[in-house]
Amino acid sequence: MDCIFCSIADGSIPADKIYEDDNMVVFKDLNPQAPIHLLAIPKAHISSNNEVNSENSFVIGKIFEVIAKIAKEQGFYEDGYRIVNNCGVHGGQTVGHLHYHVLAGRNLQWPPG
Ligand code: 5GP
Ligand code: ZN
Repeated sequence: MDCIFCSIADGSIPADKIYEDDNMVVFKDLNPQAPIHLLAIPKAHISSNNEVNSENSFVIGKIFEVIAKIAKEQGFYEDGYRIVNNCGVHGGQTVGHLHYHVLAGRNLQWPPG
């Protein structure tokens, strides 16, 4: 299957990875929208939040746990940050492999556009 985030997960396309284990990868977004902009993805191809189910949802908990750990390690834990999942056309999803944006390092606005 031709999926850019599967290729990043298996190493066939390079990315600035800051965390990796058997189930997930965290890497820097190519087009950062904040001083810190990371993407956390499952290694398994899950196309969007619509495809999360009882078989694969364990990885979501793991992703949030690792994000909390990275936030502590990188020092944006106390100031705060935002975790975003864009799902489908109205959600603004452009890459069809489940990913969580981690945005930090500036005062983010709400509501989103
Ligand atoms: P979405 O719009 O689907 O929520 O987010 C996709 C994100 O993936 C965008 O923020 C975009 O900058 C990022 N992105 C797309 N292609 C690549 C890539 O090849 N490498 C990296 N590191 N980020 C990518
Ligand atoms: Zn994929």
